[in-house]
Amino acid sequence: MRSRNARNRQPIDRRGSGCGDDCCAVFSGARRCRETADSTRGNRPRRRSGVNALSVPIGGGDFEHGGEASRRLKALLQRSGADPSAVRRAVIATYEAEMNVIIHARCGRMDAAIDADRITVEISDEGPGIPDVSRALTEGWSTAPEKARQLGFGAGLGLPNIRRMSDTFQLDTRIGQGTRLRFAIRVSPTSPEGYFRHHLRLRAERCTSCMACVIACPTTAMRVRDGSPSVLAHLCVDCAECVRACRPKAIEVEVGEPVAADGRIAVLPAELRTQFGRCAEHCGIDDAVSSSFAARAMWTDGWTETLRDAEREAASENAPVISAQCSAIADLVATRFPSLVANLSPFRSPIEAAAFEAGAGSLVAVMCPAQRAAAQNADPTGLIACVAIDEVIRKVRPAMPKAGNAGEDGEAGTDRGRDGVFVAWGARHVLEILDRLEDGRLDPCRVLELYLCDGGCRGSPLLAENPWISSRRASRRPNGDISNDAKAVRRESPVAPRAALRLDPDMAVAMRKFAEIDRTTKILPGRDCAQCGAPDCSTYAEDIVLGRAPAGQCPYREVKS
Ligand code: SF4
Ligand code: SF4
Ligand code: SF4
Repeated sequence: MRSRNARNRQPIDRRGSGCGDDCCAVFSGARRCRETADSTRGNRPRRRSGVNALSVPIGGGDFEHGGEASRRLKALLQRSGADPSAVRRAVIATYEAEMNVIIHARCGRMDAAIDADRITVEISDEGPGIPDVSRALTEGWSTAPEKARQLGFGAGLGLPNIRRMSDTFQLDTRIGQGTRLRFAIRVSPTSPEGYFRHHLRLRAERCTSCMACVIACPTTAMRVRDGSPSVLAHLCVDCAECVRACRPKAIEVEVGEPVAADGRIAVLPAELRTQFGRCAEHCGIDDAVSSSFAARAMWTDGWTETLRDAEREAASENAPVISAQCSAIADLVATRFPSLVANLSPFRSPIEAAAFEAGAGSLVAVMCPAQRAAAQNADPTGLIACVAIDEVIRKVRPAMPKAGNAGEDGEAGTDRGRDGVFVAWGARHVLEILDRLEDGRLDPCRVLELYLCDGGCRGSPLLAENPWISSRRASRRPNGDISNDAKAVRRESPVAPRAALRLDPDMAVAMRKFAEIDRTTKILPGRDCAQCGAPDCSTYAEDIVLGRAPAGQCPYREVKS
């Protein structure tokens, strides 16, 4: 049967187009849809046995909110337990389609349905239609207006990219009326969660319920209820942001039992040298360590440098490589960006590789709980002892001569040839960069060297010196003392994704829980004040639905369990 608009249509599907809702009013500055006779109410994606999960309006010309629909779809898919590669493909395809609506149409909407075996996304718009579908599906062909090109869009990769990312693809377009794009991606549930633990010591007796740690945690792992902090271990990536945020020192890095270190090797991060002023290079920090810990110093600089070289080489096979320089990044990727685990460096972090070299019986100075976990990983027999770096500084400082008494500034640091290496730090920036990489929106680079602490490891909460001052000191240090033993050490097995964000092993149950969380969130006031002990209202709603917290903790709104 032919429909009444068959003459104008590019014959791929036979259904109509146009969004038909007053959707664009949601977006400031967006153009409002006209009501079309051919309302899409009957044209939304077919409801299958799964959950018709999400419906998001898209405003034509609304570049400011570009990516909102794909971002919301990503959050939902991660919660559903869909496998990470399917999530990534769905999000990239949806983002491309969403931007096409913003660039070309007056308005549109995204509807997504999630079933046990597939994600189906439909993007419909009220726009000019596509005059030549086969050219539009050719890479590099674009009709994007100048404004979009100036903003970096309109390279002519959108539709080809969507087709490449999806398992089924249907395009229905009518000149002067609009376009409907429907694609599906097959999914399989992720494997069951493993066992997780964190490396924090929580001291409830010191907690003042200030909620600073809850707000600081980048993975929403921290909770404070009844005056007592607790950590959701499956979400914690051992980054120490909570340690930094907690002024009363109710959260500390757990380093295990102190052990005697006679005759052993002390693995020391290079950042330790920068804590004492410029004389540290020349006036015997090694001696101070050896007299304070009865251990021979072994610095990690060499492992840092060899790792950089090895990762640049590895990038030719799998760019961008997400560097192992920061020990917390691999866990963060496995937890929040599981589709990116294939990009993780195949090498161990410098502290882990150096501890591996030093072997059983050595003492490792760690700057965060993630480094503690890495050091332990280097020796599963448990014969590597850890000591927090602030404890090392306390012990070593009295044995150090006064700063400035001896030695000159070092030569300027050498240029280490950082071509194609993108270095960034700070939890907020790191999260955004990984988000962009996952959604296919990051400019190409060979190696992504990311650090969760501001200023890199020099910004560790356990170091007292200003990270910019210690950076300057480091840059003036000669590179002559890099250990010849240092080499990049490969991980024994690749990092596996954590199914930490999943609400239930069963996707259908996960979707029902998601709907319940959504309903509960709407009852809560949306202040995101953390007074309930969770970082925001939607996380508290999740805690209620998953049985982690009682209802009634919100001082502003009554919620029944
Ligand atoms: S260590 Fe990091 S991820 Fe873990 S609870 Fe603290 S802030 Fe959150
Ligand atoms: S930061 Fe967290 S653990 Fe520390 S005092 Fe405040 S609420 Fe308690
Ligand atoms: S930047 Fe360094 S100190 Fe900070 S979390 Fe990463 S490894 Fe730990």
